[in-house]
Amino acid sequence: MASPSALDPVVTERIGELLRAHGLRRMASRIAVLAMLEPVHGHLSVAEIDHRLHECLPTDDHPPDLATIYRTVTTLVEQGVLHALTLENGVTTYGLAADPHHHAVCTECGSIIEVPAGRLAAALEHAMAGSSFTLSESAGLTLHGLCPRCQALGDTGRSSR
Ligand SMILES: [Zn+2]
Ligand SMILES: [Zn+2]
Repeated sequence: MASPSALDPVVTERIGELLRAHGLRRMASRIAVLAMLEPVHGHLSVAEIDHRLHECLPTDDHPPDLATIYRTVTTLVEQGVLHALTLENGVTTYGLAADPHHHAVCTECGSIIEVPAGRLAAALEHAMAGSSFTLSESAGLTLHGLCPRCQALGDTGRSSR
């Protein structure tokens, strides 16, 4: 096992390919930001990306600063690698735009999990049939509920397990 420094080369390589597919240069900041988002299968705010970068990267690796992260996610949204989702509290979060998906937002902690669009295709059809709206998979639904972690916290609060 290599030292806990920097990023897994396999991850770096895969993200490099993703950037190349979008015609983007493999900048270290882009790779670092995407490496934080990739395992989440959900969305993170810039502050959360910053937090994770400092946890994952050794300081002598110079994790990108907040301004750089902002610039990076903005570019990646423009290029269609990421997409943005602004929550009701005004915080904008970013997630990979690869597969069509909807979002489930935790009402306790605000974490956002992606729900593959295919699983809600029937729901969208019913919603369209019952309204005059045209809804596309890419338009995205936002569902609200409790994430697994907050469900577990709620359970321990209620029971004496
Ligand atoms: Zn998303
Ligand atoms: Zn939660």
